[in-house]
Order: sequence, then C-alpha cells, then structure tokens
Amino acid sequence: LPRADVTALQADDVAALLPVPEPAAHKYTRGLVGVRAGSEQYPGAAVLCVAGAGTGFAGMVRYVGAAADEVRAAHPEVVVGVGQVQAWVVGSGGGDDAAEAVREAAADGVPLVLDADALQHLDAAGSGERLLTPHAGELARLLGVEREEVETDQLGFARRAAEETGAVVLLKGRHTLVAAPDGRVRATTVGPPWLATAGAGDVLAGLCGSLLAAGLDAFDAGSVGSWLHGAAAAHASGGGPIRARDVAAALPTVCRALLG
Ligand code: AMP
Ligand code: MG
Repeated sequence: LPRADVTALQADDVAALLPVPEPAAHKYTRGLVGVRAGSEQYPGAAVLCVAGAGTGFAGMVRYVGAAADEVRAAHPEVVVGVGQVQAWVVGSGGGDDAAEAVREAAADGVPLVLDADALQHLDAAGSGERLLTPHAGELARLLGVEREEVETDQLGFARRAAEETGAVVLLKGRHTLVAAPDGRVRATTVGPPWLATAGAGDVLAGLCGSLLAAGLDAFDAGSVGSWLHGAAAAHASGGGPIRARDVAAALPTVCRALLG
C-alpha cells in the first residue's frame, strides 16, 4: 500500500466529510446512535464502544445490553433502553444473543455497524446500509478461508467480502481498508502499531456508528471513522503506549484540529 486503485484518505478529505451541526440543530436532528454491545463477560467493550459513539457527532447515544450499569457509570450522557435510533452498532464485546441483537437492530430499518460476534449473523442483518468492521481473523471466518490467506491479500479479500455481502467492509489491521460493494476502496495508514490493543476496535465501531447516525453513508462513515481513530491514536500515543480509552479521549482534539 498504497496502490493505484486504492484512495488514501487525507486530512482535508476527512475535514470536508465531517458532519457539522446546523445553527438550528437540536439533538434529535443530529441523530441518535444506538449501541447493542457488551456482555457480562466483556462489559468493558460496551463502555468503550459507547465512548467511541459518544464523541459528539451524533446528538445522543442509546445503549441496550448486558452492561447497562457499567455504561451508565462511565457515561452519564447515555440513555439506556430500547427506542428509536438513526443507526445501530451491534456485536462489540460479544454476548450469547448476537443473532437476536442483529435481528432486533435490523428490524428498525436503519443503517447498521456489525462488529465482532455480529459478523456471524449477516443472514439476520437484512439489506440496507451496512458497515462490517472485521479484523483479518473475523473476515477469514466470514469468508470461510484461513486468516493467513486474508493477511497476504487484504485488498482482495476486503473487496470480495464487500461484493459478496453487499455491505461496506472495513478491514482492520496495520492498514485499514474500507471497501464498497461497487469496487471503491479507501485506505488509512495513520494509526500507529500501539493501536493494536484490546478495546480499540470497540471504540472504532462506536465512532463509525455515530457518523452513520449523523447522516454519512457507510463508505464515508467507515473511512472517516478509521482515519479519525488512527489519528486520535497517533495523537494520544505521541510515540508511546496507549489504552483504548485514550484513543476515545483524543478524538475531540483531533476533530477540533480538523475543523479549526
Ligand atoms: P480489534 O482487532 O477489533 O481489537 O481492533 C484493533 C484496532 O487496532 C483496529 O483499529 C486496527 O486497525 C488497529 N491495529 C491493529 N494492528 C495494527 C498495527 N500493526 N498498526 C496500526 N494499527 C493496528
Ligand atoms: Mg474487536
């Protein structure tokens, strides 16, 4: 990377795509993002996914799942319980009921981000605006191939998955590729290797969901989300180690620099 048929997203492109509220905006016009993530075993994934979703691009974050107490304690802005949203993020941090979570989210007829366990239930996801956020292992499982195969041809497998599923596929890794079913691909290479840390993917899924809820399509939400996520990691890291929560905390600073 980069290759001729792949667009490397630049800061200017991202700035132009960021959803900025109109003067007359209120929280409902800015979009609600719903998060169905986390389990008793992984409540932290819900907290981190909500942290990504709650960066401020959507007007409100709604949470449904097994980690409501943890989410409420960490994020007082969040509303808990089923209700209307403009986009759902499903799957980060597992849960035995991933199929049911996907089905319920899909029934609302809104765009979906499908992460982690939810990626095994695409049959329940219906059609419409869909953003899949696998790492190489998850994409391999989705396509029925070996992880090593995906790692040797990330571009080919991201494209194939987008074509086969009709969804936008955001393949995470050292380089993050966002492939649309129509063949377009955007790459982001801004994230440092320190970003390879537990929970980072959960923050990304939430962030992409908030961009979908704010009105971006799945291709823009995935590519802008992955660029901001990588840039926030670089900013938080400054060459040193980071935690997933540091990435979420750095997102507003990165966005301010872009919008200023
Ligand atoms: P997950 O696999 O869901 O935990 O997400 C891991 C996050 O770290 C994704 O955003 C990846 O793109 C990112 N990541 C993983 N490995 C690297 C790497 N070597 N360099 C940069 N980013 C990475
Ligand atoms: Mg993950």
